[in-house]
Amino acid sequence: MSIREARVNAKINAISHTPITFEQPEERNSKGEKTGRKLKVSEYFGECVFDIASAAEIPENIREELISVKQGHRKFNNDHAAVIAKAVTDWATSRGATHFTHWFQPLTGGTAEKHDAFLEIKKGKPIEELSASKLLQGEPDASSFPNGGSRSTFEARGYTTWDISSPMFLIESTNGKTLCIPTAFVSYRGEALDIKTPLLRSISRISEVVTDFLQIIGNKNSKHVVVTAGCEQEYFLVDRTFFFSRPDLVMTGRTVFGSLSAKNQQLEDHYFGSIDERTMAFMQEVDLCLHRLGVSSKTRHNEVAPGQFELAPIFVDANVAADQNQLIMSVLKKVATKHNFEVILHEKPFAGINGSGKHVNWSISDNTGLNLLEPGTEPHQNHRFLAVVSIICEAVKRHGGALRMAIASASNDHRLGANEAPPSIISVYLGDTLEKIYQSILDGKPFTPDNNSVMDMGARQLADLLKDNTDRNRTSPFAFTGNKFEFRAVGSKTAVGLPMTVLNAAVSEVFAEANAFLKADIESGKSVDESLAALTKKYATSSKSVVFNGDGYSEEWIKEAERRGLPNHRTTPDALKVLLDEKQTKFLTSQKILSSSELNTRFVVLEERYEKMREIEFKTLISMVHQNILPAAMTYKNTLGLIAAQNKSLGLESEVEVELLKRLNELTKWIYSETQKLSDALDKLESQDHRSQIIASELLPMAESVAIWCNKLEEVVPNDLWSLPKYYDMLFLR
Ligand SMILES: [Mg+2]
Repeated sequence: MSIREARVNAKINAISHTPITFEQPEERNSKGEKTGRKLKVSEYFGECVFDIASAAEIPENIREELISVKQGHRKFNNDHAAVIAKAVTDWATSRGATHFTHWFQPLTGGTAEKHDAFLEIKKGKPIEELSASKLLQGEPDASSFPNGGSRSTFEARGYTTWDISSPMFLIESTNGKTLCIPTAFVSYRGEALDIKTPLLRSISRISEVVTDFLQIIGNKNSKHVVVTAGCEQEYFLVDRTFFFSRPDLVMTGRTVFGSLSAKNQQLEDHYFGSIDERTMAFMQEVDLCLHRLGVSSKTRHNEVAPGQFELAPIFVDANVAADQNQLIMSVLKKVATKHNFEVILHEKPFAGINGSGKHVNWSISDNTGLNLLEPGTEPHQNHRFLAVVSIICEAVKRHGGALRMAIASASNDHRLGANEAPPSIISVYLGDTLEKIYQSILDGKPFTPDNNSVMDMGARQLADLLKDNTDRNRTSPFAFTGNKFEFRAVGSKTAVGLPMTVLNAAVSEVFAEANAFLKADIESGKSVDESLAALTKKYATSSKSVVFNGDGYSEEWIKEAERRGLPNHRTTPDALKVLLDEKQTKFLTSQKILSSSELNTRFVVLEERYEKMREIEFKTLISMVHQNILPAAMTYKNTLGLIAAQNKSLGLESEVEVELLKRLNELTKWIYSETQKLSDALDKLESQDHRSQIIASELLPMAESVAIWCNKLEEVVPNDLWSLPKYYDMLFLR
């Protein structure tokens, strides 16, 4: 097949893929026959989740114990594990599960599983069983997981241990079901080798200090505090036909070069546009799968870039939210394949248009349902709320560098500071009202709210609109949005566990100090409100430099942030250095969230990951230059040369052909020489120290230069000769 035929076929394939239907859940009568009535979502929501709170097989006393363990009030009595193991085995096997697995999150950023059958042979007879010990603990062959050199081969044991606070669930595949048991993953010496363990530690810590805070200020009914999170997931969809024709998408998750189509997102007509049929069919099946898994997928819409979409769930406990986000990413991938799409979670798969993020909506509430970030109707009177916000601002001010570290990756580096994405400077957006309130506190003046909370739309047909306390500032990496903070700098591919761990720990550190301050102040005879006001003023003053309500994408902000002394770590290697800085990580070690050796492990793993990812990108680019790009240019040159020779024999001029040949010569020369430079630098890299720094400061710019020349060539070579799908194909044809 010629290149031309292959590309035309790929296009025909992509546009002839039709929406895929799937079986909607239907009611069944007592005989198990379908009645024809489609079930409501509420009727099948969570049917693949083993819910401790409602499982009939669990006796009441153990159920109460589990709920209390979940809230961190006590340790689980391992003697009760057998009851749970039996109950979950009955539940899972009666639904067709044949296997179970400890499901954990190693430092790869993804999830890991190793399946075991329920099948046991007891006294010569086959039975289904999950023993208490296998529920509680597993020992996967862990030597191949990243450990950052924290374990030598002889002590390569790693253990998975049941996380009681995250529910077990069933994963369905084409020919069967598997019970997944969320677990932590630790080394023989008890070091966290995963993302979950430090997150759980940070959640316990924040719960402890914020409960103390509430007790000190007189909320005697506050016995327990939870961090809640909701992770908005952005992604691209590309037809599989095109995906597998782009080696860079397959190998690296992004295009390493590509000329932008004439129309991309300039008209802003994709954002919230009506969703095309094929994508809608995909989204509907994603929602069905997630709802059955107890993930409350709530919002779906077109995002700004063509081919880009978003899914957002309702917030839940932070640990469950982190697990559910992993499930969301894996369901998106799985369902996309069925619909002949490939889902792209990379933060910047296409240069020149928006990348994808994962806004982590973060808040803290107590057992009485009180959301500490709820301003109420009169935020300026709400001393507790103002104090909490000032504590969080102080936390971000102190640990902006660590927060930046927590979201650092090769892929997110392309997004931070690029189109429509937060810059790598971590600042806080509070919105107009709050900013004015804090300013009046700093000035020591009373705050008078403007009475325009209801907007008159000037049209009688329209209902009055209640104005929010904050406008949406899309340019801020950490923004207050009504009753929560949104950590927006988190990348779309990133596991949310580490960013949340660092945020929780940073906030806990300041809460602990605030508690000491308040206690002393109240004991000295001040009222709670007076003390909260004094605390607010203290932190509003010291964190003033991190609050920025303007345009975070502007050049002026970068200069202004530098004047304010805020860190601006543009690249992952720069950002990761924080992990080795004792001063900057003391808040993690002193609160026992991550030990220095665990921090060191993370540094080694993340840095190595950065290097490997970039090396794969460079190698992919080099091979595409030699296998696809230069051959296309040569073929075109050959055609032009033949025409010129023919013209000459006929006594005709060949001005255009010669012009084009000159242009092609120029472009191929640059592509070849820049690629050669990159290739030589890559060969030398192995023997050098500070590889990640060299990659970020020298090799990546070289690769970007190759990409620029390739893009120019792509624009002049005829479609017929270009073997790779273009942005136009991938973003618009479906
Ligand atoms: Mg979005």
